[in-house]
Amino acid sequence: STMTVQQEISRSRSDELFEQAKKCFPGGVNSPVRAFKSVEGVPLFIKKGEGCHIWDEDDNQFIDFCCSWGPLILGHNHQAIRESIIEAVSLGTTFGAPTRLENELAELIRKHNPHVEKLRFVSSGTEAVMSAIRLARGFTGRDKILKFEGCYHGHADSLLVKAGSGLVTFGETTSAGVPEAFARETIVAPLNNMEAVKQAFKDHPDEIAAVIIEGIPANNGLLIQEAGYMQELRECCTQHNALLILDEVITGFRLGMDGAAGYYDIRPDLVTYGKVIGGGMPVGCYGGSAEVMGKISPDGPVYQAGTLSGNPVAMAAGIAQLKVLQGNNFYKNLNSKAEEFAASIERFADARNYPLKIQSVGSLFWFAFAAPSPIRAAAEIDPASMGFFKIFHRELLNRGVYLGPSGYEVGFVSAAHSKVELEKAKRAIFEALEITF
Ligand code: PLP
Repeated sequence: STMTVQQEISRSRSDELFEQAKKCFPGGVNSPVRAFKSVEGVPLFIKKGEGCHIWDEDDNQFIDFCCSWGPLILGHNHQAIRESIIEAVSLGTTFGAPTRLENELAELIRKHNPHVEKLRFVSSGTEAVMSAIRLARGFTGRDKILKFEGCYHGHADSLLVKAGSGLVTFGETTSAGVPEAFARETIVAPLNNMEAVKQAFKDHPDEIAAVIIEGIPANNGLLIQEAGYMQELRECCTQHNALLILDEVITGFRLGMDGAAGYYDIRPDLVTYGKVIGGGMPVGCYGGSAEVMGKISPDGPVYQAGTLSGNPVAMAAGIAQLKVLQGNNFYKNLNSKAEEFAASIERFADARNYPLKIQSVGSLFWFAFAAPSPIRAAAEIDPASMGFFKIFHRELLNRGVYLGPSGYEVGFVSAAHSKVELEKAKRAIFEALEITF
């Protein structure tokens, strides 16, 4: 092997800042996975980003595959987005009154997603999902919801049951502080198992308001569901008069302009978006048929509101981003580049008989350590695989590649990841894998 000996990166400024941060914030962070706890490290404090690169406070440079957990499909500091934000800000930051920018972003979303006749903007994915659940309950007059083991839908009470993301990263799958009475209204089924869903409908006749599933489950590894399963799930909801909520916070405008709904060719009753539609600013959105959305206040009895909802600066960023995404061949180019990247890493691992699969779809990828074959349900993940990830993650940082600091989280390729940079990243990944195994 031609492996180079790597020095540990310098971390003195990040270490100092983390000491200070620990006095201010639980775990020193404002969102748990950022703490690097599961990789037993200290978080790097980031000071800037440009294209596919980020720089930390010690001036280490990284090729970034976290991309702020998904919003930055065009990479960091994209010119058109930056300019649209500056233009919006120069007119004022918030009015609490309608602006034309809300219409413009809504039309871009509706145009590519016929199942979204009406929508509402909120300020995060959590808020979008929380509101969609309330609406499903208000519309159907039923209280229970069915979610899947390992699916993360933000941190609203009813959804912090057997959820992935930071919960699974820290060895818990359900949060303290969720009243037993709330959790009882949430039924949890394993992914990739239609019988379990049918059984839940049998056990709770006329009680389930909605089934909620991630477009492609991507918060507990990347658990790609088969099209037949997703179509049957749609059918099953229709049969039982329950709504199907497709949580497209990650997949919306990531897989394509029509998200996972288009990828699987299904028509959800409600969808939720976040991340990509905000171009890196805080935005969420939920939407569906005019009939269902007609239940939302002030047209209907289901209340939902927000001081900063439809914020003009966030709308401007989202509009600028979606306009680039709807250009010719955008997803074809991005997805083929990312799929080739994932496939060549898998070839490398296969040739060496490493216990590793690269599960990928479009520009999302996940390193499935200790996996003999594709994994489609949370329970199939071997927790021991996180030991491999810890070494892999550290060795990648030392070689200038930044992955989100948890083995349960997926990686994101952006349009700013050039083929040259992807080749560099691959070489670092190959070396890190040689050390890991
Ligand atoms: N739904 C999914 C599928 C997500 O991945 C996330 C966040 O990662 C959320 C909802 C919550 O979004 P937010 O973090 O913006 O509240």
